[in-house]
Formats: sequence, structure tokens, C-alpha cells
Amino acid sequence: MPEADGGPKAMPERPPFALRARLITPLSGGQTRHEADALVEVDAGGRISAVRPWSSGVGSRGPRAPEGGAAEARPVVDLRPFVVLPGLVDLHAHLPQLPNAGLGAGLDLLTWLERYIFPLERGFDEEAAVRLAPAAFRALACAGTTTAVLYGAVFEPSLDVAFRAAEEHGIRAVIGKVMMDRLTYDETLRPADILELSLRQSADLCAFTPRFAVSCTAELLRESAALARSTGAYWQTHLSEDRGELAEVARLFPSATDYLDVYDQAGGLGERSIFAHAIHLSDREIVRLAETGSRVAHCPASNLFLASGAMPLAHYLEAGIRVGLGSDVAAGPELSIFGAMRSGAYTQSALRVASGGGPVLGPLDWLRMGTLEGARVLGRSRWARRPTSSRSTPALRSPCPRSWTLLRIGPPGRTRPPPTRPPPTPRRWSAA
Ligand SMILES: [Zn+2]
Repeated sequence: MPEADGGPKAMPERPPFALRARLITPLSGGQTRHEADALVEVDAGGRISAVRPWSSGVGSRGPRAPEGGAAEARPVVDLRPFVVLPGLVDLHAHLPQLPNAGLGAGLDLLTWLERYIFPLERGFDEEAAVRLAPAAFRALACAGTTTAVLYGAVFEPSLDVAFRAAEEHGIRAVIGKVMMDRLTYDETLRPADILELSLRQSADLCAFTPRFAVSCTAELLRESAALARSTGAYWQTHLSEDRGELAEVARLFPSATDYLDVYDQAGGLGERSIFAHAIHLSDREIVRLAETGSRVAHCPASNLFLASGAMPLAHYLEAGIRVGLGSDVAAGPELSIFGAMRSGAYTQSALRVASGGGPVLGPLDWLRMGTLEGARVLGRSRWARRPTSSRSTPALRSPCPRSWTLLRIGPPGRTRPPPTRPPPTPRRWSAA
């Protein structure tokens, strides 16, 4: 529970209620709404029913009843000097890897996976998930994340535990069973059984999750992409993260034009496909991602940690690729999208220095990418209408209000006054 003015703010157990706070939120048209003193009304169903300036007088009289409805008793919780923001969207993280966040700096991707990650994921069975998943979703909620797209491990029972933990913490979660039919760490399976079992265990999830081309055969990529298309599920994997990985993919798929073409030949490109990293892309790959409407999860903290590379983000945005942010724990050191924004901003500034110029995103551009753009990557309007599986249904409900993001400006006890000027409008190439 947040603290302000030296003491905790008591939040109601359940809606309806209203919040009084400074409010900053990106708008769909590209602008940003800023209210220095706002009233955010939450109806009995837990949805935001109205946002208005406190000075409109409504707040001091008590929140208005819904159109044609009976007046509801809505306590007003005064959260000043906190800022209310939209929930953050983390498009890429690995649930079983949380204990190793920040370990293995200086290693290249493939060595790091072999030494730090596969041994850890091998132990992520149901029992481990019971221990870890609640802590992971608590950490996501504390980081202000209300929607998370996650990779699990290869073991199916651990996923049920993870979905339960997501729901208990009010977080929308898309969680996929990691699919690996080459170089897998599950030594209990006969290689001949992996493909069929992996497809069957993913079939009722909201995301098919082939790990990356290095650990998947062309058949697994093709079959999983076809199933994702036919069920309306997401298809998530890694793309072009590390130079050593690129060389290995070229060796394994000699007929492919480039890394993206491996997935293209499998039928894996499209608006429900989310590619993590995508750093080292050719012009052909950039055009192909844009024209297929494929999505990119940008994970700048991870890319710096493993020295994988620096994404030419401005180029991608100008090409029309839809990009959101991911923490990529454990290569990313923390489950914080604010941390990803910071790393991304430093990376883009470094690129600007190295190239002698070019555009740089401002703070509000990063906020937009970590919230509204992340939701657009997922095509959020589809969620409410058509959940894709029984296991995905609970976790895809609207997040409960307790997981909204509250940001304190300044350190506890020495609150710095927020800026009085309204935020500037975002730059052209970051607009929706
Ligand atoms: Zn990853």
C-alpha cells in the first residue's frame, strides 16, 4: 500500500470508490492528458467510469451517479501527492528466471543460457512454481505492472500455479509453456514425443511460445504458428538478439534469407506475433515486420546487461513497427518497466552521440510505450470479447484497482512539487 504524507493511504477493499490525485495518461490520438488535481471514479464493476478535474466541483460533492443509475456510496481516497498512471505493460519476461535476475553479466547470450538459465528452468516444476509465482506477481504489482506477457518453463503443471497467482494479484497475464524440441533441458522426454506433447500442452493457452529458432525445429515453428492462427492465440518468440545467436540460426536454417525469414517460412508473422529483442535487423526484415503488422517487445535493460546490442528504435518506429517494452527478467535485472524506460532512454542517447544526431524519445514517449503502446501490441480490444482458453480467461479479466500504478514524485518525506506546466505533446514519430 502506498504511503504519503508520512502514513499509509487506506484503499477500500472493493469498488466502487474514487481517487483524488495528479493524473498523467497518454491518449489514443497521440496527446497526453495531465490533470494536476483529478478525480478518478471507479464503478462497482471495478472499471474507471469517469475522470474529471477536482475543480469541477464534483469531487467535493461526492462522485456522480452513473447515467440513469442509483447513486452509489463512493468513498474518495485522497492520494496526493501521488500521480496516477495507467498500468504498465510488460511484454516480455521469464517467470522461472526471477531468482537469477542480474546474474551472469558479461556473458554472451548462448553461454548465459547454458550456464545460468537452463539449469534454473529445469527445476521449475509445480512445487517450485508454488514457491515462486506469488512472489513474482507480487513484484510485478509492486512495479506498477498490470499486464504481463510471460514465458513459463517447459513443464505444464507449473503454468496452472502461475495463472492462479496472476489472478490473485489482479494482473492480466499471458503465459506460455516454453516449447523446445531441440536442445531442451527436459531430459525425461523421448525426443520423438516432444513435438506432439508440446503442441497439445499449449493448445488451450493464450500464447504459443517456441523459445527461439536455435531450440526449435522448423516443424515445431510451423505447427505452433498454424495452431496459434487457428485458435486466435498469440505466438511469441525471440528474434535477432545476439550476434552469436544469429550465426547459429544461419547454420541451422541455411535456406532462410535471414533470421526473420525462419519465422516467416513457418507462417509465424502477423498481428498476434510478438518478437522479443529484434535488435540486429536488416532493412528487409524491418520492412517485413512492418508490412505483416508483427509486434516487437523492446527489452533495453536486458540488451545492455548481456551486451547484445542497441536497437535503432527511431528507425523502427518510423518504419511503422508497433513496439512495446519488456523487462526480460532474468537478462533484464528487474521486473520494472520504469527500469526498461530508463535503459532505453540511455541507449537511444548513446546512439545519438555515436551517430552525431537523430531523434530521442522524451519521458512521455517512454511512458506511452510502456502503457498504451504495450496494450496496442496485444490488441487489447479483442480481450474482452474473446478470451482464448479456459486457463487464460481468469487472468485476462480487467485488472483490479489495487494494481493501478501510483508514482510518488520525490523521496518519501521530502516531496518535491510536481512541475506546474502541462507536459509537452509527444514527438511525431512516437504518436499512435
Ligand atoms: Zn527472453
